[in-house]
Amino acid sequence: MLPDLGYNALICRYSEIATKGRNRIFFENRLVEALRRGLRGLGKVTVVRERGRIFFHPGDGRLVFAAEDLAEMRRVLPFVSGLSSASPGFLLEPRLEQIEAAVDRSFGQVYEATLTGLSAEQPVRYAMQARRSDKAFPLISSEIERHFAERLLACYPRLLVDLETPRLAVELEIRKDRAFLCYERIDGPGGLPPGTGGSVLALLSGGIDSPVACYLMMKRGCLVDYVTFHSEPYTPPELILKVGRLAGQLNRFQFGGRLAAVNLVEAQKAIRDTCESRYRTILYRRFMVRIAAVLARVYGAKALVTGDNIGQVASQTLSNLAVVSAAAPTMILRPLLAFDKKDTMVLARHLGTLAESEHSVPDSCTVFAPADPATSAKFYRVEAQEARLDVMGLIHACLDATVQVDLTTFERLPIRGLHEAVDKALAPPGRRPPATPAAAAVVLELPGDEG
Ligand code: ATP
Ligand code: MG
Repeated sequence: MLPDLGYNALICRYSEIATKGRNRIFFENRLVEALRRGLRGLGKVTVVRERGRIFFHPGDGRLVFAAEDLAEMRRVLPFVSGLSSASPGFLLEPRLEQIEAAVDRSFGQVYEATLTGLSAEQPVRYAMQARRSDKAFPLISSEIERHFAERLLACYPRLLVDLETPRLAVELEIRKDRAFLCYERIDGPGGLPPGTGGSVLALLSGGIDSPVACYLMMKRGCLVDYVTFHSEPYTPPELILKVGRLAGQLNRFQFGGRLAAVNLVEAQKAIRDTCESRYRTILYRRFMVRIAAVLARVYGAKALVTGDNIGQVASQTLSNLAVVSAAAPTMILRPLLAFDKKDTMVLARHLGTLAESEHSVPDSCTVFAPADPATSAKFYRVEAQEARLDVMGLIHACLDATVQVDLTTFERLPIRGLHEAVDKALAPPGRRPPATPAAAAVVLELPGDEG
């Protein structure tokens, strides 16, 4: 870890937003908001935007960021969706002598820190990347790199220029009114900033896949609320705590995602007592997506999200997914559909949700789980099974047992307007009025498709 060098600026870079043409400012505003929110621990800051970069400076008359500020940047920035990378560093006047002085002041400390873990014979692999956008600056980029390499190699004989795998990387950007020098890059998740992609409602189980599906939607700028289904008293109260902790971990990538918890047990019992056992899981899922559609309407979400993945289990064959989708009056997004499990696991580990997901707690779908689930359910057979049930009555019974879980205290709170939303949410498409105004809030002009 590099030492705190008394930085006077943080530079934030984005990539995809740069392609947004006339809408760029909208995306950039959302990114600045997300960065400000994430970095509120830094106290007052000044934000300067300059041609594809966002600079943060310490406010309240402070000249440099404190060591705790630096720690906070390293902790928070990897979670700010829309950010490609950020670097704490030195903002300087774009004059060669100023830049030389700043390098002379800071390089030695970075060099010392880089020696940690190297044996005395090993070279210190070094690279400088200079980017000069101010054509009036007397040296071009490659000359700047050579100029500094000569100066530094003369003072630090163990340095070895290695542009491919440097251990010590210096970056220098020279713009018209400012130059920026840094030694560290904090990687962001990339993607698009929170709030640019509309709102969705994710079906969050305690498993490995659904938190990853939520993250992928957040990375595309969606605001994600969550719904989980449990079967108390057949599932333990820990299940909701576990899902609540997962939702809390996911909320690091956004702000304020809400968690609804639905007790599905009334519907499950009716299915167990009335329908053929091989259709149970599919019938559970059809209830889940209908109830989720009601919640989506109340929360103002435009789509549902699941962690489904083709062929993972019996309920996730294409035929069965189609039968489940047919029950949902709302679009279902399945971002993991074509993922390999191992890739999902890598992402789950990276997000920090894997350990929580692997913590074993009995879940709703295993309650009364059949030994012989149908892998290719026929639509008409499932409908015939469902015709034996009072579907709307059971939906209302489950909504009676639906609460919002406070993600700090885990207190269970009532949600208003659920029963009233049922008819509108479950009406056939075309007869459905638009959802709440919140759902229609983000209307964007995106670049047209080619061709
Ligand atoms: P995960 O898929 O998250 O690892 P899982 O393996 O328990 O969890 P699956 O049986 O694969 O779940 O279910 C597929 C998807 O259906 C889940 O990713 C999730 O979106 C949704 N789902 C299943 N069970 C529940 C539940 N109890 N509450 C909310 N959503 C659920
Ligand atoms: Mg799964």
